[in-house]
Amino acid sequence: MNNSTIAAVATPNAPGGIGIIRISGDDALTIADKIFVSVRNEKLCDSKGYRAYFGNVVSNGETIDEAVCLVFRAPHSYTGENTVEINCHGGLFVTKQILRAALEAGAKPAEPGEFTKRAFLNGKMDLASSESVMALISASGKQAADAALNTLEGNLSKEIKSYCDKITGVCATLAAWVDYPDDEIDEITTDEMLQTFKEAKSGLEGIIRRYDCGRAITDGVDAVIVGKPNVGKSTIMNMLTGFERSIVTDIAGTTRDVVEEKIILGDIILKVADTAGIHETDNTVENIGVDLATKRLERAELVLSVFDSSNPLTQDDMQIISKCSDKKKIAILNKTDLPMQIDKAEIEKHFDKVVALSAKNGDGRDDLEKAVADLLSTNEFDPSAACLTGERQRNCCQRATEHLNECIDALTMGVTLDAVNVCADCAIDALLELTGEKASSAVVDEVFSRFCVGK
Ligand code: GDP
Repeated sequence: MNNSTIAAVATPNAPGGIGIIRISGDDALTIADKIFVSVRNEKLCDSKGYRAYFGNVVSNGETIDEAVCLVFRAPHSYTGENTVEINCHGGLFVTKQILRAALEAGAKPAEPGEFTKRAFLNGKMDLASSESVMALISASGKQAADAALNTLEGNLSKEIKSYCDKITGVCATLAAWVDYPDDEIDEITTDEMLQTFKEAKSGLEGIIRRYDCGRAITDGVDAVIVGKPNVGKSTIMNMLTGFERSIVTDIAGTTRDVVEEKIILGDIILKVADTAGIHETDNTVENIGVDLATKRLERAELVLSVFDSSNPLTQDDMQIISKCSDKKKIAILNKTDLPMQIDKAEIEKHFDKVVALSAKNGDGRDDLEKAVADLLSTNEFDPSAACLTGERQRNCCQRATEHLNECIDALTMGVTLDAVNVCADCAIDALLELTGEKASSAVVDEVFSRFCVGK
């Protein structure tokens, strides 16, 4: 890690009350002194940590703005390095000018996530907690924010570490047996080892389960709205997003592209695609839309299949039903403001849930919200328990449980203890990759590349 001093605007690229330019690194204070003059003429270089100074930011002899500079001394800062945060007026122009002045005074532009990466490399937080910083920033609801904060505070890492320690304890004894078979070594019975592996495995499986049912809250779920033309898909999409997003007309087949939208339904995020109606057509352009819709349907985890309840079921409806067979699926009987003609009992046979609504006047939205929450089991999500943040962490947990399964199988079948030891080591490696203690630099780079600049 080179300890060059980096700078970036830490606040959003939009007008606001306050803008913050963050400078971090060995020379943060000297660089800030070149562009900031405090009203009492005090030098930031002489400052203790946790101090605030009022003054002017000056560049090339001109005052850019009044500002308050916060000084943090290493290691007592977010990054663990010397840090200055210049709090100025939150205009787009002003923050950019101050950043430019800091760069001209010797700072380098920070890469995305570089402040947090430095915090990780300086041991201020582990990789799992670093990832939750980004999750916290992008959380769209209270539950998602609570879960991210909980991980940031280290609850996940604590639980993972406790499993790691227990498995390591078994490994140490196993290694001693393998290396010094003739020595007197503390007895640890097969049953005790099995118990340790089984407890760790079931704990990790619990973490994975919680993540899976909370993913709709933290990351969002790929969902798709399907149905033949004119059943009201676009109107439903508009009702859910609150915007006139899709083109709504009564000419069948109007929506030809896949429109993707993030919808917040209660605590759940749906990444919804409103698609061209899936139906038989000779029109080439329409066919492209129908193909896109079919592909999107294959990828989706949740299908919202729309029917016009004011008309009887048709062959096209039945064909769509057959295409969603292996998905979590909800039937929406739309247009309940009109007399019901559809065979509801027939639809109920094919779907996990059936919701009747009228997209036109907004009736039934709450029922849809409840049906989605029930089907995705989000009610079981507990943001106060240890939570995974993202697929990378889930994958580490999954690999660890698979290796623990191998340990359990090997012990049960009476395979040699060195083989058990190898599997247990692999489980530990997967868990250390999760917390970052043993993550490759490629993994670390990949994690931080997904951050925004200034964080
Ligand atoms: P899509 O082709 O499935 O996307 O259907 P649209 O959303 O374009 O709607 C087709 C027609 O049905 C439009 O004229 C809508 O105004 C009408 N429509 C949609 N939802 C309702 C509803 O709940 N009640 C009634 N009466 N008409 C609706």
